[in-house]
Amino acid sequence: RATFVLVGGGLAAATAAETLREQGFDGTIRMIAAEAHHPYLRPPLSKEYLTGAGDRAGIVIHPTEWYADHAIEIETGTTAAALDHGAHTVTLADGRILGYDRLLMATGASPRRVDAPGATATGIHSLRTVEDSEGLKAAFAHGDRQVVIVGAGWIGLEVAAAARGYGNRVTVIGREQIPLAGPLGDEMGTMFRELHESHGVEFVLSAEVERFTEQGGVVTGIALTDRIVPTELVVVGVGAIPNIQLAAASGLECDNGVLADEHLLSSAPDVYVAGDVANAFHPVIRQRMRNEHWANAIGTGKIAARSMLGQSAVFDEIPYFYTDQYDLGMEYSGYPTLARDAELVVRGDRTTREFIAFWTSRGKVVAGMNVNVWDVHDTIRELIRSQRLVDPTALADPSVELSAL
Ligand code: FAD
Repeated sequence: RATFVLVGGGLAAATAAETLREQGFDGTIRMIAAEAHHPYLRPPLSKEYLTGAGDRAGIVIHPTEWYADHAIEIETGTTAAALDHGAHTVTLADGRILGYDRLLMATGASPRRVDAPGATATGIHSLRTVEDSEGLKAAFAHGDRQVVIVGAGWIGLEVAAAARGYGNRVTVIGREQIPLAGPLGDEMGTMFRELHESHGVEFVLSAEVERFTEQGGVVTGIALTDRIVPTELVVVGVGAIPNIQLAAASGLECDNGVLADEHLLSSAPDVYVAGDVANAFHPVIRQRMRNEHWANAIGTGKIAARSMLGQSAVFDEIPYFYTDQYDLGMEYSGYPTLARDAELVVRGDRTTREFIAFWTSRGKVVAGMNVNVWDVHDTIRELIRSQRLVDPTALADPSVELSAL
């Protein structure tokens, strides 16, 4: 019977394991997971887990007994150190050599660091793991800290909301002029900025971190070009870097992630890729796409598993992302690359933060974001998928049923 090795113990690997068994694979599944835990969900780490509203049970992907029940051999706290795809072997950090018939590379991503003097001082945090989230939660719980967040992206803003929830003073430093203007454009980015300002967050934008000031190895501030922002607690949220080291060292083609085709097959035979580390060809937009999102880890995990079984499966899903900040919940579906030059059409009143934003290009919807409006996301996805021409006036008019467009 065949042996499939899954490298990485995150959502993508867990989904692949589940899919392999669902699809009737009865061979050996070995999951090699660097972290000390069974696979868990990361989105709550900057939301309910960090605010204290959620607990460990809420982040578990499969209960511990599920692995034994499904004959999945999981080795936590174990790192794959080398891959020889010619010999079909993977060498673990402890020296053991495992043979495989097919391998999944699902090594995820790691937080990007700020490359500035003083960046290793105590009190400077990043957020990727459950331990990171617990460390921040303990620090935020004091409630009287000056928290400075470097990075005005999704994680930075979610952390800002959590830190404010405990009563801390919060400053967000960002390079951009408007937070989230990159993925959402100026108008929607401004909506997020105003949301945070209404909760007492201060922004320092168009700013560059020059260095971290410290005393006795402990951070005391962040020096920008024109001032020093004092702080005792910094959270760096400036993006993530795909963990390609194992793949690159073994000669797999890499470029902003491990390259893969639409079946999630890498440049080496029998080596598949899924999740944050995959930069896979997307047949709808006809270009490669690396997506650091929950739904992408699930979608690519499923398709990679089916491809490993020899099925003709293609990953062609519309990207999906969600966020929760204070009392705002939103879902985004669509192709950010296409939305960048598209026209914004707002359905509803953006000042009430209860609306749907659409991005249209040549009369077709390429992305949609529902903000505090629920049960519409399937319809939005259908609009995008269908590529049908829509009348922008009707699109903006809440009295016209979305499904009638
Ligand atoms: P990971 O979850 O990174 O898992 C990869 C695992 O592989 C890690 O445990 C790593 O240690 C391990 N590994 C790496 N190298 C090796 C090796 N050589 N050997 C063995 N193991 C190895 N997405 C959304 O859509 N919405 C959100 O709101 C959202 N919020 C987020 C909040 C936070 C704080 C973070 C960090 C992420 C968030 N995401 C969100 C993104 C989402 O969590 C990721 O896209 C998803 O976790 C990717 O899963 P993955 O399995 O590809 O990678």
